Amino acid sequence: MRNEKAVVVFSGGQDSTTCLFWAIKNFKEVATVTFDYGQRHSAEIECARKIAEELGVSFKVLDMSLINQLSANALTRSDIEVTAEEAGGLPSTFVPGRNHLFLSFAAVYADALGSRHLITGVSQTDFSGYPDCRDTFIRSLNVTLNLAMDKQFIIHTPLMWLDKADVWELSDTLGALDFVQEKTLTCYNGIPSTGCGECPSCKLRNEGLARYQAKKSAGEVK
Ligand code: ZN
Repeated sequence: MRNEKAVVVFSGGQDSTTCLFWAIKNFKEVATVTFDYGQRHSAEIECARKIAEELGVSFKVLDMSLINQLSANALTRSDIEVTAEEAGGLPSTFVPGRNHLFLSFAAVYADALGSRHLITGVSQTDFSGYPDCRDTFIRSLNVTLNLAMDKQFIIHTPLMWLDKADVWELSDTLGALDFVQEKTLTCYNGIPSTGCGECPSCKLRNEGLARYQAKKSAGEVK
């Protein structure tokens, strides 16, 4: 365990909650930061708050609703939200560069807390075409943040090369599989745990869990 403080970009979903457990295991002190940009369901933020409380880490919500002023897509978002989510599963990606903005804000927040470690659950495996989830972008941003603030940040991406089944495996390794399964919210319809089962996010999550469980029962998990 590093004798340092880390800041987890946290949404209360499967990926960032797995990252939170990873952070708690690897760092002496952990803080979370959650971005409120008028996402699908405020239940998501409440879910994040509860998880942070239960795990005894600090919880900070930053108002990022301003990103909804940045693009034509986002401006019409409240009208098209449900349809867009059901059709394409793109609820969190209306604004290009959103992850870039969030990580940059998280870095300023981390610096204010005296932390240089940022943890984000982005994955190149599941990046769905969004360039600011890719490893090359994260490395580039890391350099940029260091130059911008004259610091030595380290952006940790424990899920970068994992698919959904691998993320379940990681949460199991961390002793957190049941917790993640029961308490996180990834469903586009705002239903925690196993969710609605029908939306793209639920399908990805549940299909990943099924694959991991099959692998585990076949004795392929160490
Ligand atoms: Zn769902």
